[in-house]
Amino acid sequence: MAKYDVAIIGSGPGGYVAAIRAGELGLKTIVVEKDPFLGGTCLHVGCIPTKVLLHHAEIYGNFKNAAEFGFEVSGLKVNWAATMARKDKIVKKHAKGIEFLFKKNKVEWVQGWGRYAGPGRVSVEKDGKTTSIEASNVLLVAGSEARSLPGVEPDGKTILTNREILQLPEIPKSMIVVGAGAVGVEFASIFQSFGTQVTILEMLPRVVPVEDEEISAELDKAFRKRGIQIFTGSKVDSVKKGAKGVSVSFKDKDGKAQTLEAEKLLVAVGRKPLTANCGLENSKARVERDFVHVGPYMETDEKGLYAVGDIVAGMPQLAHAAMMEGITAVTHIAGKPVTPVVKTRIPSATYCEPQIGSVGLTEKQARDAGRRVKIGKFLFVGNSKATILDNHGGFIKVVSDEEYGEILGVHIIGPLATETLSEATTVLQLEGTVDDMMAMIHAHPTIWEAMGDAFASVRGLQINM
Ligand SMILES: Cc1cc2nc3c(=O)[nH]c(=O)nc-3n(C[C@H](O)[C@H](O)[C@H](O)COP(=O)(O)OP(=O)(O)OC[C@H]3O[C@@H](n4cnc5c(N)ncnc54)[C@H](O)[C@@H]3O)c2cc1C
Repeated sequence: MAKYDVAIIGSGPGGYVAAIRAGELGLKTIVVEKDPFLGGTCLHVGCIPTKVLLHHAEIYGNFKNAAEFGFEVSGLKVNWAATMARKDKIVKKHAKGIEFLFKKNKVEWVQGWGRYAGPGRVSVEKDGKTTSIEASNVLLVAGSEARSLPGVEPDGKTILTNREILQLPEIPKSMIVVGAGAVGVEFASIFQSFGTQVTILEMLPRVVPVEDEEISAELDKAFRKRGIQIFTGSKVDSVKKGAKGVSVSFKDKDGKAQTLEAEKLLVAVGRKPLTANCGLENSKARVERDFVHVGPYMETDEKGLYAVGDIVAGMPQLAHAAMMEGITAVTHIAGKPVTPVVKTRIPSATYCEPQIGSVGLTEKQARDAGRRVKIGKFLFVGNSKATILDNHGGFIKVVSDEEYGEILGVHIIGPLATETLSEATTVLQLEGTVDDMMAMIHAHPTIWEAMGDAFASVRGLQINM
């Protein structure tokens, strides 16, 4: 077999993006993927299928709200099979798209289980046969899988993870979602929209616990208004399967024992890195609780072995983080200048209704870091485009440094938050200040325009409120 500059284990967003960039930079590249298709968690059982369903839920919501817009709609029905078929069609199309991009950039790929086999070597196992690849550099991008609760075994029918819930043949009547992180609240939002009675159980004191506290409070309020039942500070004691579904016993925030029943249970309690059996024991790489430690260019303590994506210690498990980490690794391998990924500049987008977009420090993180914080806040109720969309709940919160007006973080909840987030991320990337942003012209009428008001509100100079 030919000798490669780079061998990449895993074709999720970290792996396939790294491979394409490596090809563009003229590196001879091969990808090893255990599945018969490319794209990983994100494309097949993560970002893309969930966003298809969320978009369908939004359209359905608009139909249900038709009277507000002057339409009479009767006989409205969800064709679940058609919804699922469209989701699958989109996933397949994009998987083929990655294959096309590999060809275009002369990236080869093989199916099989990849293992780091020592400096410059990767072994590939398929159907009991092992072959070997020689590569000067190896990227391990093995990704993650759903964690479960102690003693709870997902069976794919009643107790579900993100995989099986995306294949449900029917919309369930009721569902308990354990875990109120991004995955949990997105599925809660999807199924509540389609008529499922959803209950969320979260062990921590608030939903979306990594977000700014005010964002959590706003989502909590909005979800309850939509009819989603929420128990925070609640720890699951046991899960029992019965003929009609599951029964979940938990202690609520006051320590009172409670039991809930539902047709389905979704376990959304975090993601476990898939580093076992990947040959890391053949290296000097530092592994802690299955996560791999890396330096600024994603290289592990073993020279020539890089780790990227969901398996990296101390980085958020997000597709776009994985993509930029992969680009950083291969650009470094190509000997070209590249800036290390800055964790506080990685945006976070949660596509539930209402949407959340955030980047940088929360108010608490900024205060804990000893910054003199100045907050600005603008409510979407003052934004004309939000009123046109009939979606004017939520706000934009700006966390800035009092001394020079440096923007430290931006937290958005409300219409198009995951798109408006682009401006917030740009400001942090370019180290902009409140004054820079107040001088920037925002097109009218847009949702985006609320950013201008939010920055100005730091100085008490917002116009539309
Ligand atoms: C329901 C859900 C929704 C999500 N939504 C979003 C979102 O909207 N936005 C966002 O940014 N992130 C989202 N995420 C997170 C995102 O999917 C992950 O952060 C991203 O997929 C990580 O990319 P990765 O390349 O590290 O790993 P993965 O995408 O997990 O890919 C790893 C690949 O490696 C392969 N593999 C593993 N081990 C081996 C081996 N030894 N040999 C060969 N192949 C191997 C796997 O088959 C897989 O194809 C979501 C996750 C879930 C579960």
